Amino acid sequence: VIGGPCSVEGEAMICDIAQQVKDAGGVMLRGGAYKPRTSPYAFQGMGTEGILAMVKAREKTGLPIVSELMSADKIDEFVEHVDLIQVGARNMQNFDLLKQLGQVDRPILLKRGLNATYEEWLMSAEYIMASGNENVILCERGVRTFESYTRNTLDLQSIPVIQKLSHLPIILDPSQATGDWKLVEAMSLAAIAAGADGLIIEVHACPECAWSDGAQSLKPAKFASLIEKGRTIAQVVGRSL
Ligand code: PEP
Ligand code: MN
Repeated sequence: VIGGPCSVEGEAMICDIAQQVKDAGGVMLRGGAYKPRTSPYAFQGMGTEGILAMVKAREKTGLPIVSELMSADKIDEFVEHVDLIQVGARNMQNFDLLKQLGQVDRPILLKRGLNATYEEWLMSAEYIMASGNENVILCERGVRTFESYTRNTLDLQSIPVIQKLSHLPIILDPSQATGDWKLVEAMSLAAIAAGADGLIIEVHACPECAWSDGAQSLKPAKFASLIEKGRTIAQVVGRSL
């Protein structure tokens, strides 16, 4: 289970949340430093400063770090500092970026595009692998449908389907999938029951004050109890958390 804020908001903040993610049983820290925001006037992320704050959090807690890479000009920065490179939903078919990530010595977390079919998603993974990097993890994060009550619609069946079509691990991001922290636990438990290989969850000490995606972020205590419950479900389906 990966946990952490949508966006890095400073060194003290990310170090504090990293410790809470670790105490809850999380094994990796997430934090966006380059943010693909719908509005150009919304907070765009702390950039390099955010990545370096993540590095500090790793030094303090030992947790490896994952962050989103938006453009090829930052590849060197990410290879130097980040353990797992996230390609966001909006870049899933940025084929030039995918080809370049095929040449780096870092695993890639490839999110499903907003309206990508399984085949399109797997072909994007193929772009990375065909260029030489076979360490790809897929991430279901919900897709666009006619439903507007939730931010996206969680396509849970993608988990068993992708596992049938591919050998790649698949994890769930219930935070982007639902857009609502109240749905995050139920969808996480359902994904574990469906055989997901992991979860990536937005966690914030003060969701009301978060600089992005507060409405879908869990407080640390809720994240800890989710992991607790998830362990029971994982055991039933013969997995561990
Ligand atoms: C995120 O993880 O904060 C994010 C922007 O994800 P996605 O690319 O799935 O929308
Ligand atoms: Mn987010």
